[in-house]
Amino acid sequence: MASIRILLDKCTGCTLCVKACPFGAIHMADRKAVIDMAKCTLCGACVAACKFSAIELEKSAGPKRDLSAYKDVWVFCEQKKGVIQSISFELLGEGRRLADKLGVKLCAVLLGHDMETAAGRLGERGADKVYLVDHPALAAYQDDPYTAVLVKLVEEYKPEALLCGATTIGRSLISRVAIRTNAGLTADCTGLDVDTKERLLLQTRPAFGGNIMATIIAPNHRPQMATVRHKVMQEAPVRPGRGVEVVSNVYPEETFASRTRLIEVVEELASTVNISEADIIVAGGRGMGGKENFAQLEELAKVLGGAVGASRSAVDADWIGYSHQVGQTGKTVVPKLYIACGISGQIQHLIGMQSAKTIVAINKDPDAPIFKVATYGIVGDVNELVPALTREFKRALNK
Ligand SMILES: Cc1cc2nc3c(=O)[nH]c(=O)nc-3n(C[C@H](O)[C@H](O)[C@H](O)COP(=O)(O)OP(=O)(O)OC[C@H]3O[C@@H](n4cnc5c(N)ncnc54)[C@H](O)[C@@H]3O)c2cc1C
Repeated sequence: MASIRILLDKCTGCTLCVKACPFGAIHMADRKAVIDMAKCTLCGACVAACKFSAIELEKSAGPKRDLSAYKDVWVFCEQKKGVIQSISFELLGEGRRLADKLGVKLCAVLLGHDMETAAGRLGERGADKVYLVDHPALAAYQDDPYTAVLVKLVEEYKPEALLCGATTIGRSLISRVAIRTNAGLTADCTGLDVDTKERLLLQTRPAFGGNIMATIIAPNHRPQMATVRHKVMQEAPVRPGRGVEVVSNVYPEETFASRTRLIEVVEELASTVNISEADIIVAGGRGMGGKENFAQLEELAKVLGGAVGASRSAVDADWIGYSHQVGQTGKTVVPKLYIACGISGQIQHLIGMQSAKTIVAINKDPDAPIFKVATYGIVGDVNELVPALTREFKRALNK
């Protein structure tokens, strides 16, 4: 619980707090500040703005929880149509390393329908235990039942760390679970480690537009939750025949209730590979000049066996679908080769692709920021260079 109050003897009526409040929750009455608690979110902006220490914000930590009751490292294993997604194997690889350092079990969490066989094989990817919840309502991802079930599992078995992919599903699910379980959550991590003495998960992620790497800890909350970007960690190796304990959990029917109804899953009619999985991405930006020119990128991607990516400008212009967008509000990709065509290289785009192993940039402006992150830069017109590259790769690759 938290509370806020104006110390009337210190308030000078200067109105700085009124200007600072982003929610319009403060007004003046008789030259003193008055807070409208119906609007106040206890964000503390007014406290920081007040030069006279006339606003007191008290945030109590609530009843102290026994953190020692939490143990084991958990990995939420994402499945689509019953197939466990590769991000789960990456997390199991990293989870195994962390669990060994902490001297605890690595547990997988699998929600779905008819997933017993898949659950039994997670031992081959390093899991010691699988918490399985099998129900028709969990066949495809839906926020409400997935959240309710994962919250129940967390409350019952108390993991000390819970890892989840920074995927569309992972981001939607884990933020809900973190709120309901009062857990610490760090989104979009690119590195993880543990402080074995304090039993803290060290969660590293880019901050301030990718300009610094911040390591975040959650010392007062359990579980320590992190979403991890795809393709940043090595997949757990397959150890054929390695067994696993499967713990099947049954919950009352109301647990699976949903405020939304899944009518149909419509697969995007993509002619090329999903960019999150692709080793080679040919991406286009506003410099491509129009929707019709994206066909050139598709052809080059096809010759190279890659996928087509795009900047937000290209997506906003409706030249290509959102699922191809790379960057802060799109996907994070870590391919072996990223060819950026007519993309200027704004920070919001770079965040999503700068970890690619090799970056080739084609831009007619020699000062375009994309060249700062590029391994190889070509100054020129994409409309000439992309078809020329396609021709040369076709010849070299005998296609
Ligand atoms: C909150 C927020 C989130 C955002 N999220 C994302 C995101 O997820 N992904 C993203 O990409 N952007 C994102 N943006 C937008 C981002 O800031 C840039 O506006 C965007 O990336 C620019 O796209 P662009 O490089 O295609 O276009 P421009 O910046 O317009 O660059 C076009 C480039 O093409 C070059 N060019 C032009 N013609 C040719 C030619 N014939 N041959 C060769 N080169 C040519 C130009 O020299 C120029 O460098 C976000 C912005 C905000 C504010």
